[in-house]
Amino acid sequence: MTGKEDEKRFESQMETLREGYRERLRRQLDDMIRVAENLEESLDPLPTLETLHHELHKIAGGAGVFGMPELGKKARTLELQMKGIRDRAVSGKGLPFSEIMAAIRGLSVPDTLSEKEDPLSSAQWEKPSGVRSDDLAGSEPQLLIIDSHEKRGRELVFSLRYFGYAPRHCHGLSDASSLFPHKAPDAILLSLSASENSYSSRSLAEDIREFFPEVPPLLVLSDNLDFSTRLAVSRAGGQGFFTRPLDVPKVVDRLEHLIGRRERAPYRVLIVDDEPMVAEHFCLVLRAAGMEVQREEDPARVLDMLSTFRPEVLLMDVHMAGCSGTELAGIIRMEEEWVGIPILYLSAESKMEEQIRALNSGGDDFLTKPVDDAFLVASVSAHVSRARRLAELMARDSLTGLLKHIRIKEALEVEMSRCNRDGSTLCVVMLDLDHFKRVNDTWGHSTGDRVIKALAHLLTRRLRRSDSIGRYGGEEFMAVLPGCSPEKAQVLMEEIRRNLKTIEFHAKGETFRVTCSVGIACSSLGSSPEEILQAADQALYRAKEEGRDRICMDGWSEVP
Ligand code: GH3
Ligand code: MG
Ligand code: MG
Repeated sequence: MTGKEDEKRFESQMETLREGYRERLRRQLDDMIRVAENLEESLDPLPTLETLHHELHKIAGGAGVFGMPELGKKARTLELQMKGIRDRAVSGKGLPFSEIMAAIRGLSVPDTLSEKEDPLSSAQWEKPSGVRSDDLAGSEPQLLIIDSHEKRGRELVFSLRYFGYAPRHCHGLSDASSLFPHKAPDAILLSLSASENSYSSRSLAEDIREFFPEVPPLLVLSDNLDFSTRLAVSRAGGQGFFTRPLDVPKVVDRLEHLIGRRERAPYRVLIVDDEPMVAEHFCLVLRAAGMEVQREEDPARVLDMLSTFRPEVLLMDVHMAGCSGTELAGIIRMEEEWVGIPILYLSAESKMEEQIRALNSGGDDFLTKPVDDAFLVASVSAHVSRARRLAELMARDSLTGLLKHIRIKEALEVEMSRCNRDGSTLCVVMLDLDHFKRVNDTWGHSTGDRVIKALAHLLTRRLRRSDSIGRYGGEEFMAVLPGCSPEKAQVLMEEIRRNLKTIEFHAKGETFRVTCSVGIACSSLGSSPEEILQAADQALYRAKEEGRDRICMDGWSEVP
């Protein structure tokens, strides 16, 4: 479907929903008048007052969302009044029946709606589905490296090419425009020397904007950063600081994230609101922004929804019948697995004390209904993208930037279940450095670390984005290659094995090289993650036994 058709479909769904809401609201107001008329004869007015209070609260939240802010505000005022009247009833005081009647009769559905901004044309939205933009697909991202130090700049160019980028180096911003005369680079890496660590907070932002009106993602590399430089970088839109000695995989990790080369799945949002039409409105708005959204009206079903849908953020109403949003947040936070999920309250509650109370009971943010569509999308995006970044940091090994032991095993489980579902196969690779203990003993532990990182670079550079690579143990690596034939896996690993052998490492004024042994196993339909892991491990063991520096395939003869 084209963007225009999408837009039209979204508008017509919104229109249907708006009309449906207005229709229901008219009936709701008629019902409220009828209920209120019977109030005077009632022996126990309390349940009726409770109902009226709850209905007014719903209108206060919903009317603004559907383009009737004035009605929403009126209902909000009445809601507060009604709360006072209910409290009077509780303490047995007389009730101002005529006042109540007049107030409710004063509410009506307006004929015209207030103009609302078209959410699809809202420029401030970040398209959160993160689908690769077409001009990036297949081509290498262009990087601008600014470093007045010639050798250091060239070294960085060299390392980044390794990771599939097209970096270009210049000495200062003034040379940059000749390198990128037509189109800004995909990211800028600004390398500062100790003497340059004093960018004034004004100049950097202006200098960059002079050459690139739309500032691309900016990363700053420096020996150390003083506050004024940090401020300058932040004002210029900087999105990362890295200190030397530079950890290139970390820089690459950040770049991948910023440029969006890694395919990001759509954000998953769960809306818990006992007002279905309001929930549906938020649903449509967030879906139009590319998110995957589900809604749940019954608080008792939310825990189940969490485990089946696995949302990354919860949008929650505060006042719900039976169980309030804050009580539900308490229940969710009791589960260790959901301690970190962002909970955003979305409520008509405008009282500061109530909002603070909600935030103190497990909430991360409070959005007051009616909330602007673009603001809602921006808030949800900000919370999910931060939560994803944190999760990624926790999943990765700090030395190599590869997945940690537990995460690579999880990746294998996920991929295996996909294989068993769609009948595809995958290969698992186990790779271990040969006689690594000797490397440490002879050249020192930090040199050993450099070797481990170099191998991690080789793997990251050579494998595909859909592959998962992990540091399985100290000097042992594991890779999961979905949809890869054993023959292809063998050729690929052979190339990595040969490349590793050619790298010269320098330490203590001398040069040395290292080798590795590899075991590969291929899944067959119905096999379990444990079985394939064990098969790859046995193949690796065979490669070691048969003399190291070689690849063994599970069930195949070795390739010397
Ligand atoms: P083999 O060829 O049989 O694999 O011999 P090996 O010496 O590589 O194997 P072994 O398992 O005996 O030793 C692995 C060594 O790797 C021991 C440990 O000190 C070292 N190692 C583990 N993690 C790290 C690390 O993070 N950094 C460094 N420098 N060394 C590590
Ligand atoms: Mg080893
Ligand atoms: Mg080992």
